[in-house]
Amino acid sequence: MANRQLNPNSESTDNYLKAILALGGPEESRVTSNALARHLDVAPASITNMLQKLAAASTPLVEYERHHGVQLSPSGKKRALEVVRHHRLIETFLYEVLDYPIEEVHEEAERLEHFISERFEQRIAAKLGYPKIDPHGHCIPAMSGRMPKQSSMLLTEAALKTNVLVESVSDRDAGTLKLLKASGIGPGVQIRLQERTPASRCTVVVGRSSKMLELPENIAHSIRVRPLDK
Ligand SMILES: [Zn+2]
Repeated sequence: MANRQLNPNSESTDNYLKAILALGGPEESRVTSNALARHLDVAPASITNMLQKLAAASTPLVEYERHHGVQLSPSGKKRALEVVRHHRLIETFLYEVLDYPIEEVHEEAERLEHFISERFEQRIAAKLGYPKIDPHGHCIPAMSGRMPKQSSMLLTEAALKTNVLVESVSDRDAGTLKLLKASGIGPGVQIRLQERTPASRCTVVVGRSSKMLELPENIAHSIRVRPLDK
């Protein structure tokens, strides 16, 4: 068999596809090897190697041209969305049903997302009442693979002194999530950006309190917001 080395369902393949989906954003732009290397914390040489394998599979999962970055193929995108769906359903299940603290669900989901069967996925979704949003505020792709485009912006890009709603928080760092939880910042919470330094250090007011809270750049960058519904 020509593609013996490449198991299209391996965890590593899934993680590459997921990273390309996330980094490409809603526009599905081409992703550079360097951006992937940083995101996955892998040496650039291994990235090139893996992308070549994914592009050469009997059903190619990516379209890859050296120095021009990489894009998901239709099959690659389908698989990436399936893994994201698993991930977000598992996070919701752990949070809602098993009472995991919010900062611990991501790590478990990273492990389990590769292995659950379609049946298990269905049962979780049914048990939870077919949720559309995970505990971090991210959309859960539908069974069909469709994912609504979220039209939020980074907190650091929000207008000053205007009330906005937190739409989602990044799930990638447990420390950040813990800090946000302690500060009362999570999806659905009203927040106002009072001040922003050129380095994106943000001072915010949370909810109806009058207390100012200073958020370092990395924390401010992990929060997405949208205008308040009128
Ligand atoms: Zn997660």
